[in-house]
Amino acid sequence: TLPDPALGAAVKAADRAHVFHSWSAQGLIDPLAVAGAEGSYFWDFDGNRYLDFSSQLVNTNIGHQHPAVVAAIQEQAGRLCTFAPGFAVEARSEAARLIAGRTPGDLDKVFFTNGGAEAVENAVRMARLHTGRPKVLSAYRSYHGATAAAIHLTGDPRRWPSDSGAAGVVHFWAPFLYRSPFHAETEEQECERALRHLEDTVVFEGPATVAAIILETVPGTAGIMVPPPGYLAGVREICDRYGIVFVLDEVMAGFGRTGRWFAADHWDVVPDLMTFAKGVNSGYVPLGGVAISAEIAATFEKRPYPGGLTYSGHPLACASAVATINAMADEGIVENAARIGEEVLGPGLRELADRHPSIGEVRGTGVFWALELVRDRGTREPLVPYNATGEDNAPMAAFAAACRASGLWPFVNMNRIHVVPPCTIDDSEAKDGLALLDEALTVADAHTV
Ligand code: PLP
Repeated sequence: TLPDPALGAAVKAADRAHVFHSWSAQGLIDPLAVAGAEGSYFWDFDGNRYLDFSSQLVNTNIGHQHPAVVAAIQEQAGRLCTFAPGFAVEARSEAARLIAGRTPGDLDKVFFTNGGAEAVENAVRMARLHTGRPKVLSAYRSYHGATAAAIHLTGDPRRWPSDSGAAGVVHFWAPFLYRSPFHAETEEQECERALRHLEDTVVFEGPATVAAIILETVPGTAGIMVPPPGYLAGVREICDRYGIVFVLDEVMAGFGRTGRWFAADHWDVVPDLMTFAKGVNSGYVPLGGVAISAEIAATFEKRPYPGGLTYSGHPLACASAVATINAMADEGIVENAARIGEEVLGPGLRELADRHPSIGEVRGTGVFWALELVRDRGTREPLVPYNATGEDNAPMAAFAAACRASGLWPFVNMNRIHVVPPCTIDDSEAKDGLALLDEALTVADAHTV
């Protein structure tokens, strides 16, 4: 497509006049007008092209405009655009079959939703009805979505404005050695103390009041903290000991992001419920869901499940999931994510850390990496204060602006940049992105002590 600044200006003007944007002060934002996208890149109406190191909201795992997925949506639209959830529909049946074929253990039934938050809502509903217990435990430094239960489960400042204080949610600390809540010095200590803390929390809350423990397998937006070996198995044991439903939220970590189909596969852990969205069809059409164990599915075998959505298992969304999963399998996209992480991103980011004093820690796996930017490596003081806004956030804003000015679209959260390109990214694109990041990090370095 040729640049068309006049069309870009019209798109922007209508946006500013009428579109109310998520998470934003409406008068303080300046959204980029996007003209198109392909693979790892997108471009604006002025002819600027960006390497998408964000995968948007960490969802375009298969890249932009994958031809097989576009064709599947077009084909499904020609055949059957929409049909109510109560019917058996080919695209829905096949999507459920393909997903159940990849989820761990006996998670063989799929309840479809339109996205991640609704998946979390329904997982919590299933856990409460299955156990007859009211409370759910979730971690600080987590994100589970912006609807009622999901935002209450969320363990970061996005919850605060919506917290009713009465949602039946109790937060606990999950392991994070770099900023250890347990003052641990080794991964083993961190893991052991985190498990003891979680079990103590269960015991003191009263096990008979706890329906579920929910965790992101690898927490995403809150910082990409890969759990230490043994942690998730330990949580599984605690759940089994007290009859608690174990929910893994794989909305961000699932479908290739960590270099496996599901992050749970790294540790062979089997939850009772698993939520997914994003990468299931790269968000080409909104889709999410809950994968359900045989035991929980049995609860609703004779008793109706009291939940539903007009668009549950929408045919266009499901057809795009079928095409996405098949393309990911046929083209080795999950394997590519693992290899790029091991051979290019991991070594490349660690090499940047050797040269840039603003990098406090590099952590991640697959195409799921975080750089923790700090003012001072010794004290680990974050480059900007926790939940900084306005002037306080200026160093991160300047760093993000430097990335964008160089043609790299970053995913920035608090004092971190998340390096989260599509799972389809090739070696030369990943290396280009690292080179652009190298330049932009000099802006962050200027704010170190
Ligand atoms: N859970 C996790 C782990 C997420 O990362 C997100 C979104 O970023 C959600 C749930 C909510 O998903 P959605 O925005 O599709 O409602």
